[in-house]
Amino acid sequence: MRVLIVGAGLAGLTAADLLTRAGVDVVVLEASQRIGGRTFTNRADFVDGLAAEAGAEWIDSVHGRVHGLIERFGLTLDPVTTTWTAVRRWLHRSGRLLGPDELHDIDPRLGDDLDRFEAFIGDIAAEIADPAHPDRHPRARSVDSMSVADVVAQLDLGTLGAFFVQRNMQGEFAAEPIEVSALFIAQQRALYAATDAAHGSVEAQRLLGGVSQLSNGLAVSLGPDVVHLGQGVRSIAISEVGATVATDRATYDADAVVLACALPAVRRIAFDPALPTDVRAAVDDLGYGTVTKTALQYRERNWPAGYATTDGAAQRVYEPTAAIAGETGILMAYTGGDGGRALGELDETSRMDVMERSQREMYPQLAPRVAGFSQAWSAEPGFGGSYAVYRPGEITRHWAALRRPIGRLHLAGEHTATWTGYLEGAIESGETVAARLLAND
Ligand SMILES: Cc1cc2nc3c(=O)[nH]c(=O)nc-3n(C[C@H](O)[C@H](O)[C@H](O)COP(=O)(O)OP(=O)(O)OC[C@H]3O[C@@H](n4cnc5c(N)ncnc54)[C@H](O)[C@@H]3O)c2cc1C
Repeated sequence: MRVLIVGAGLAGLTAADLLTRAGVDVVVLEASQRIGGRTFTNRADFVDGLAAEAGAEWIDSVHGRVHGLIERFGLTLDPVTTTWTAVRRWLHRSGRLLGPDELHDIDPRLGDDLDRFEAFIGDIAAEIADPAHPDRHPRARSVDSMSVADVVAQLDLGTLGAFFVQRNMQGEFAAEPIEVSALFIAQQRALYAATDAAHGSVEAQRLLGGVSQLSNGLAVSLGPDVVHLGQGVRSIAISEVGATVATDRATYDADAVVLACALPAVRRIAFDPALPTDVRAAVDDLGYGTVTKTALQYRERNWPAGYATTDGAAQRVYEPTAAIAGETGILMAYTGGDGGRALGELDETSRMDVMERSQREMYPQLAPRVAGFSQAWSAEPGFGGSYAVYRPGEITRHWAALRRPIGRLHLAGEHTATWTGYLEGAIESGETVAARLLAND
């Protein structure tokens, strides 16, 4: 059997790894000149040996497949942990930097509001018998038609409660509350519950040396000549006897094709025969978040330690270099939803300037900026967004269509996984497709 894999992200590389180890002839076609896709540890844009993740950064304690790769490649996790709670160390609001103890004075309802929100979503999650099939929820249509903004309105959350829910949606799902299906967030909560870890108690860590080591490790173990860089796939033709995939520079024949790139990139590929109607609709429609990550290196680290949420343009600010000794350090701005979209319309220099202004509003004492980058995933043609977000109605319309084989064609990538939006999901999807191909071989 010969399999062509489109996309050298973690999904495509995982499928390639499992198939080659089973003796299958595999070629991976990657449009860009680097492997890794949405994993990208950026060193080139910093001084003094520092680095920051332009894409995936955090590895949850419950993401067993990612931990498996870390072990396989002998990598080490950063001892600094973070917990995905709605309220973090600092809130910068109306020009003031507030600690958690001060929030109660501003909005005494905050803790209760956030608990009511999680309880509402938890009740929906409790009725999801299998997180792999949220579309089988007993009230799937009505719950899926509800957005997180509808839930906020129904619960009549106060100002700070609604604000923290919005910042959480912009961070976790990279989208505004109105763009996130209540059934989708419940599916993600149900996944965490299935690992016996309540969502707010999961700890996450960075990978020392960078997340790119995961994709690099897989590529090294594949050996030379398996991954072909600079081969952007333009068309895929499937017949009864095989498949033909064309790039601008070459044509490849195979028995099966794994399409492991983000759906905005799939939209530009020509299919013969046309994709089935439900798959085509899902490919064209599915929502994508808009995270822009802007990492700015300052000459001194003179900001207060700890994760901050701001009502300013940066949205969420933290220090990726917290565990690394040194005088200079990096402040990351993690900006999603409308804020990420707006940044995506600017050039990189302007994005960095806007984010620096926002960080200086929070920390006026900041030293001069010495280096940095800003990566707007929604403006990148090979991605068209940061990660999939199922918007209202999209679980019931698109979930199943994206997860079934289409003859010789198999979709993979985080958007087809149960762990949508995570490294874990990308690896999971590569495993699913490889197992399916090997079972049919
Ligand atoms: C800003 C950001 C932050 C994130 N944070 C986290 C996090 O903290 N923790 C976590 O677990 N996950 C996080 N994620 C999600 C995680 O990065 C993704 O789920 C995962 O990397 C997706 O892998 P993939 O293989 O599905 O897709 P990709 O990594 O997108 O790989 C697809 C590949 O296909 C290539 N391609 C596209 N079109 C074509 C074509 N026509 N022909 C050939 N090749 C093509 C692309 O260049 C790319 O290399 C984050 C993602 C982003 C963007």
